[in-house]
Amino acid sequence: MKILVINSGSSSIKFQLFSMKENKIMAFGLIEQIGEPTGKIKMGSFHHEEPITKMLHIKNHEQGIEIISSFLIDEKIIKGLDELDGIGHRMVHGGTMRETEFLNDKIIKAIENFSSLAPLHNPPGLAGVKATMSKAPHVPQVAVFDTAFHQTMPQYAYMYALPYELYERLHIRRYGFHGTSHHFVATQAAKELKKPLQKCNFITLHLGNGASIAAIKNGKCVDTSMGLSPLEGLIMGTRSGDIDPAILFYLEREEGLDIKELDTLLNKKSGLKGICGTNDLREIKAKIKDGDEKAKLAFDMFCYRIKKYIGAYFAVLGRVDALVFTGGIGENAVSVRRKICGELKIFGIGINKKQSEKRGVLVHFESKKSAVKLLVVPTNEELAIAKQTQHLIQKTAKRS
Ligand code: AMP
Repeated sequence: MKILVINSGSSSIKFQLFSMKENKIMAFGLIEQIGEPTGKIKMGSFHHEEPITKMLHIKNHEQGIEIISSFLIDEKIIKGLDELDGIGHRMVHGGTMRETEFLNDKIIKAIENFSSLAPLHNPPGLAGVKATMSKAPHVPQVAVFDTAFHQTMPQYAYMYALPYELYERLHIRRYGFHGTSHHFVATQAAKELKKPLQKCNFITLHLGNGASIAAIKNGKCVDTSMGLSPLEGLIMGTRSGDIDPAILFYLEREEGLDIKELDTLLNKKSGLKGICGTNDLREIKAKIKDGDEKAKLAFDMFCYRIKKYIGAYFAVLGRVDALVFTGGIGENAVSVRRKICGELKIFGIGINKKQSEKRGVLVHFESKKSAVKLLVVPTNEELAIAKQTQHLIQKTAKRS
């Protein structure tokens, strides 16, 4: 079974082609700066060691899909997109949809309806869908939603204390994001603990440029840090995470900032970057070594916010089997994991220092006496999307 996974961003398309039977990536690539004067293309396949790179003006997502299709044909991996068994699309906002869905007119309409809540993500996602549909109209196309895994949150956890009619009329509530990743690492962690996921309580931490944390009870999400949008919660690379909303009124009054400026401030100029000038944790570590106090402050704030959420989620879950770290920072930043876990002795958490040094691989780093397992599980959202796409196609084929 050959499954193509498409992850369309506002000006980018990431893809991976999987052979599910052989458990192998046949081709992969990233097209960036779509719509800008010069776009960047990087694509590779199992035929070559080194990926090819090109600079080229790429008008829109349709042309991006055309470039991917031509590459796969030129590399003799497929004869055309219509030969594929399925195409899985990452879709950021699926509103209250709980499941992976076949992309038909009804689902596309529902995704369009939620575009106002994810204006930077859903429209390009749909542009990718429309482009692959026109090239391969008979191939099953599936949407895997970032929000789906979190739709098991109880209402008291997903509501904002705003007038109830805003929830009814405008669907203002918490949705949560990174769901594919939280679900994937929770599934891997359960396997690692040799326990059914339905019996596991986890706190999963997806820490990358975007960062979120989820409380998982008996395999289901019961709370998560991101909300209506991916801005709420933890401190991120360039996003503020939780702030007092009154800051916005104050900035409007004092500085005359309008909605667009406030949006840019909170999404692009805040977080680690806002505090110390860079959102790259490796640079922050280097700056701390050179005695930069703001870098140290950004690092401490980042870890402190995570620690507070972990404490809250211990209260939510009661019993926690494991803390599961993933994402660029969660998988690689030893210092972050050590600082956070080192300050959680109150929960019976202890670290194995040597194990905690490992990066980018599945590893346990709890001490022998630790009451809670500590795991690093590398995430793989594309593989998770491919598997969910395969699962839906096979389940439907069995039924018919
Ligand atoms: P992501 O968005 O998941 O790709 O994660 C990006 C973040 O991971 C950036 O802040 C990087 O600085 C951080 N990161 C990646 N590799 C490392 C590393 N080896 N050590 C520390 N941070 C890292």
